[in-house]
Amino acid sequence: MSNQKNNVMVKTVDLVKEFDIPGGSFFGKNKPVVHATSNVNIQIMEGETFALVGESGCGKSTLGRLLIRLLEPTKGHVEFEGVNINKLKSNDMRELRKKMQIIFQDPYASINPRMDVYNIIAEPLVTHKICATKEETKEMVKQLMKKVGIRPEFINRYPHQFSGGQRQRIGIARALALQPKLIVCDEPVSALDVSIQSQILNLLHDLQDEFKLTYLFISHDLSVVRYISDRVCVMFLGKICEIGNTEDIFTNPLHPYTKFLIDAVPKPDPTLRKENKQLLQGDIPSPVNPPSGCRFHTRCPYSKDICKEKEPQMKDFDGRQAACFLL
Ligand code: SF4
Repeated sequence: MSNQKNNVMVKTVDLVKEFDIPGGSFFGKNKPVVHATSNVNIQIMEGETFALVGESGCGKSTLGRLLIRLLEPTKGHVEFEGVNINKLKSNDMRELRKKMQIIFQDPYASINPRMDVYNIIAEPLVTHKICATKEETKEMVKQLMKKVGIRPEFINRYPHQFSGGQRQRIGIARALALQPKLIVCDEPVSALDVSIQSQILNLLHDLQDEFKLTYLFISHDLSVVRYISDRVCVMFLGKICEIGNTEDIFTNPLHPYTKFLIDAVPKPDPTLRKENKQLLQGDIPSPVNPPSGCRFHTRCPYSKDICKEKEPQMKDFDGRQAACFLL
């Protein structure tokens, strides 16, 4: 568990992100768009690990990027420590960026393979003029390497000379360089072997303790989420279905989609595998033309007439929130 406090660090207000479809009509209301996130309202508390889960294409990564303003919202805004970041001018945003960093699934894809470890980790330090001299920068890079478990004598090696797990450690060192408060971890262990996954998760946990970090942890892997997160937010087709404490979500999921996701987690005991399994109907609908009413209604085994006509709103259930007409 993390050092969760009661202060809100990040808040989204009716956050909408739509992407234009290349080649779509330029005119009128019928212009086709991908509805990536629709009226998303979440709060991430200082010091917590807040997980975003859902199937591929549900808008998790888009929401992660909106949170640190790597994307601009179509409507709504993001508040970081009470400041509307979407109204900040570029200089102020540049300052704020030091406090918010991102770790990607494949660090190899996000770093220049022709840069050595020194340049990869030093780049944000140099861009933000953190150190007075090159010696000071080099010393700081070595300290960061030690913190993430990479030997400082490897400072002049290149990414291809490291394993996937080591490359992710280098990505983490780079993210830590500016002493951020919030790190968006976008599927940070999905590309790694299971044994390496736990090492990276433990490293993230230790760094959170040491540097009082807040994580937005994006993952489709519920086992990983259960291990690392304090709270879980379940998304389906750009909408939030349920938010709650991790153990509550896993032991007593409220929303039918959360139940399906939890049932789909492989069980260690094979005799338990077929018990009480929820089966979903059909495929994930298109985010270009999402279903009316509850976006889950075309797949939900409990769908009623009202689900096709009206959109369920988030309601509070003893500190948890879920949006479903059954509840
Ligand atoms: Fe299923 Fe209706 Fe609940 Fe949506 S609102 S999850 S369709 S029961």
